[in-house]
Amino acid sequence: MMGGTRPDKYKKLVVKGKRIDGRKLDEMRPVIIKAGVLDQADGSAYIEVGSTKILAGVFGPKVLHPKRLLDEDKAVLDVSYAMLPFSTSERARPGPSRRSKEISKVAKNALEPSIFLEEAPQVMISLQLDVISADAGTRAAAITAGSVALADAGIPMKGLVSACAAGKIDGNIALDLCGPEDNFGEADMPVAMLSSNNEITLLQFDGDMTKDEVSKSLELVRKGNEYLWSKQEEALRGKYKEVD
Ligand code: ADP
Repeated sequence: MMGGTRPDKYKKLVVKGKRIDGRKLDEMRPVIIKAGVLDQADGSAYIEVGSTKILAGVFGPKVLHPKRLLDEDKAVLDVSYAMLPFSTSERARPGPSRRSKEISKVAKNALEPSIFLEEAPQVMISLQLDVISADAGTRAAAITAGSVALADAGIPMKGLVSACAAGKIDGNIALDLCGPEDNFGEADMPVAMLSSNNEITLLQFDGDMTKDEVSKSLELVRKGNEYLWSKQEEALRGKYKEVD
């Protein structure tokens, strides 16, 4: 959501290379990722990117009914993204919206290339992505947590998928826009990448950028995703340390 009317406190989004929350242009918000946070789910993960907070839970792989929803040749990944009513300043209305349906679909598309779906035909893997607190970048953080939850469920995977956005604020290219930057900035470009081959599995774009600015944004998200892959791995390794 871009281009709202700016209140005075956000008149300048960048002052002397520093952003409204003190970050540098190429700096991501603080990231916390935990794997295996739910007892009843087959796999789970929790992520915080600044004050964006998301819980991801996996159910499956399971043979589910009706069977017509399953595929003879490969596993089906069903992704459902939702914002909890208290996750935004204005109560988010429960139930699917156009936006949540779109994000569920792009998250599915972003995650599918990381899974050996053909290894397990005729089963369904359900992934639930619940936004507990939203401050921009929820689709990116949901994909990052979703991938950790899938790995935590023991799903055979080619690599981890993480996602972050780069955007344009007051003419500057910046990594990982926070809420006000997303609202009052000029552009936002979330990008998901697969760790095993650097494949881009999602790229969305909202706003205005030149070709050079897009290249610069891609460079920033590549570095951001490299950092996120290390945090995802750390979370998965941390879980096994707890078991020891
Ligand atoms: P993303 O969260 O992936 O950046 P958007 O660009 O659609 O997706 O949304 C940006 C931010 O706007 C969200 O993270 C959230 O903080 C806010 N937002 C989105 N939808 C709503 C809504 N229905 N009510 C209130 N705030 C919302």
